[in-house]
Amino acid sequence: MSQYRSGVSELDLIRRDHAHLWHPYTQMHTAPPPLAVNRGEGVYLYLEDGRRVLDGISSWWVNIHGHCHPKLNEALASQARTLEHVLFAGCTHRPAVELAEQLIEILPAGISRVFYSDNGSTAVEAALKMAYQYWQNRGESQRSTFIALQHAYHGDTVGAMSISADSPFTHPFSPLLFSVVRSHAPYCYRCPLSLNPASCSIDCLKDLERCLQSKGNEVAAVIIEPMLQGAGGMIVWPAEFLAGVRRLCHQYGTLLIADEVLTGFGRTGKMFACEHASVRPDIICLSKALTAGYLPMGVTATTERIYEAFLSDDRSKTFFHGHSYTANPLSCAVALASLELFRTENVLDRIAALERQLRTGLEPLTAFEHVGNVRVIGGVGIIEVVQDKQTREAGGYLDHNGPLLATEFLRRNLLLRPLGNVLYFMPPYVIAEKEVDWAIGQIREVLGS
Ligand code: PLP
Repeated sequence: MSQYRSGVSELDLIRRDHAHLWHPYTQMHTAPPPLAVNRGEGVYLYLEDGRRVLDGISSWWVNIHGHCHPKLNEALASQARTLEHVLFAGCTHRPAVELAEQLIEILPAGISRVFYSDNGSTAVEAALKMAYQYWQNRGESQRSTFIALQHAYHGDTVGAMSISADSPFTHPFSPLLFSVVRSHAPYCYRCPLSLNPASCSIDCLKDLERCLQSKGNEVAAVIIEPMLQGAGGMIVWPAEFLAGVRRLCHQYGTLLIADEVLTGFGRTGKMFACEHASVRPDIICLSKALTAGYLPMGVTATTERIYEAFLSDDRSKTFFHGHSYTANPLSCAVALASLELFRTENVLDRIAALERQLRTGLEPLTAFEHVGNVRVIGGVGIIEVVQDKQTREAGGYLDHNGPLLATEFLRRNLLLRPLGNVLYFMPPYVIAEKEVDWAIGQIREVLGS
């Protein structure tokens, strides 16, 4: 058995993991031991047992330019030699300033202020608090309700869980969560109105309108994951729904929060998913690919109008939210280097090619007995596995097929983590054509067998 440099065997390490670590989402006695990963390069993870595994989910959707990219490594090392961290209250530094400037250049028009935090959930928490206090500062404190969508997932902290749809993730905590108004999502394969997507007129949007009407001037904000609802089932939207949400928020005078923690930085084929319908949100949340999968960082960016509502010598109007590692210079430096790669390496063209290849390779799988639906957006290919195509019956997030599929793909050296019955492939954008072909081949073999 191979040895770690410290002389600890792989098995020892796994035992030690079980003794002292608490891994996310894996407390089952029957859960397989965690993969002991030694090294990453490009789309591959190299395991301590000598295997090479293709990272088919971009290490939880964060990695975009590949593991251990030389330019990102260099940006990180160089920043570490200069300034590793300093508090961001009353201090500032070039990496944070430059990153804010560059983000404002590419974010939807109207966004002009960048608030940094630590991860996707904190980016969302900050957005909720910002929207809530914005109305208080303007003397409209009755606007205290949030509207969120069915199948939403916005993170694991308490506010983010409150706006997420009820699921095994949130269930034990339901008494702790604040109540929100829940509105239909455009889940076309499982249409909430049982309509035919080919002939409907985005009728599910009427539910949001009904909520906005009934709550009147009590709504602080509507929060959405534009174009692709992630952990709630990889649900791809028609762009018309996104456009409609923006129109309704304008019409009813409330704020629109776009949670682009997953979709930001090219995942859906546009730099930001809001671009699919030329939507300008009032607040946008970013994380994950912001630092290309290197370091935790969150951004909650907003408009001047919202920022100005907090500008006051009256301290009660201050946004009292901040984290120790806010605007961490190392994270900022890597994020800047990642944006540089977008400019110099035609990354969006690469994603467009990946999208074409995913469509060609995965769409024919709808012919398989247990493939209910195939959807592709940008660099994400999604396959919904069902027990029966007629009834579309499936077990949701706890579907027993999820772990079985994950184990089989891992045996084939492909890392995929289905969301229950929803299998998806979301590789780093640097994946080569032949590697995509190989992964699709594995998926075809496993689902076709
Ligand atoms: N928002 C969305 C849309 C997400 O997909 C996620 C994570 O998957 C989050 C927020 C939470 O991000 P984090 O896991 O960094 O807290």
